[in-house]
Amino acid sequence: MSTKVKVAVRVRPLNKRELEMATDIVIDMKGAQTFLKAPKNEKKSQRTFAYDHCFWSMDPNNKEKFSSQEYVFSCLGNDVLDNAFNGYNACIFAYGQTGSGKSYTMMGAPGQKGLIPRICDTLFDKISAAVEKDKSTTFKVEVSYMEIYNEKVRDLLCPKSDKHNLKVREHKILGTYVDGLSKLLVHGYNDIENLMSEGNKSRTIAATSMNAESSRSHAVFSVVMTQSQSDEATGLVGEKAAKISLVDLAGSERASKTNASGDRLKEGSNINKSLTTLGLVISALADQASGKSKKSNFVPYRDSVLTWILKDNLGGNSKTVMVATISPAGDNYEETLSTLRYADRAKRIENHAVINEDPNA
Ligand code: ADP
Ligand code: MG
Repeated sequence: MSTKVKVAVRVRPLNKRELEMATDIVIDMKGAQTFLKAPKNEKKSQRTFAYDHCFWSMDPNNKEKFSSQEYVFSCLGNDVLDNAFNGYNACIFAYGQTGSGKSYTMMGAPGQKGLIPRICDTLFDKISAAVEKDKSTTFKVEVSYMEIYNEKVRDLLCPKSDKHNLKVREHKILGTYVDGLSKLLVHGYNDIENLMSEGNKSRTIAATSMNAESSRSHAVFSVVMTQSQSDEATGLVGEKAAKISLVDLAGSERASKTNASGDRLKEGSNINKSLTTLGLVISALADQASGKSKKSNFVPYRDSVLTWILKDNLGGNSKTVMVATISPAGDNYEETLSTLRYADRAKRIENHAVINEDPNA
């Protein structure tokens, strides 16, 4: 089966600073279209982009237009879960400049759960319902949580160990994986919630001790669900496994804007390396899909840790969703334009998803 990457764009409300500056609003949305107006005093024409979903989350008082956390989940999360139950891998990644709403969309805020908690919560509801319906099926759910910082992989579920520089390897059948990364068995949503809050704490602590903000690292939360079904007549057990990768990317803003120098520069260029390579991979795949280049053309997955880990989620064996988050403010015009363009390229990628099924595991 071949499917395009699903691309959504979400615009957040104006923040305090933008409100105080009385900045102009340059984003509007209608249906599946996003409009980017020229900022104040600039003679540029309006640009129009089309995506699979445009989530207008600027003002909850505008009930007709507003996209809540729940609505975003209903459009993106359910699909991913249905795919997982059918044995397909799935991936959602959030892309955008720092402060544009990536973590709000993926994790959420107090009382405003984002995609990750909603997906995990609904996953266990669906498992209960499936077990109720068919007692011969059993489910196993394992999670892992890692941070990619400066091209190094850290285990967020085992922060005290020496797991600060894990290596990515490739298995012929299972694809790329992180060697030594903890995979913890979970029995319900509460288990995941506890693990995640521990993991997030260690993300922040590590960030301060390394003199950096979490905006410079990529966080990858993975859920692996294995369904086993025993056939009473033959006594054989069939297994289906699906991996859901939920990725909160580092801020997409260019290093030039952050006064990078010295170590910061190295750090910045390494972070850029993962994001730049992600862009190159997306472009290469988009060219393949549109027939501009041959299928056999080189895709530089191995050039960064992030793209190597996400290999199966990009043009590979996965259903993939990208959420591009943007600010509505005129003074973020350039970053917003570059995010919208990046998202536009991602629309053209085709994935070839196959069921991870071993009928006689
Ligand atoms: P990022 O992870 O991209 O750096 P955050 O998700 O931390 O950005 O968002 C920055 C700030 O804006 C946070 O205070 C967050 O709660 C708020 N915010 C982001 N998106 C939304 C939204 N859709 N609705 C309400 N508040 C939002
Ligand atoms: Mg964030």
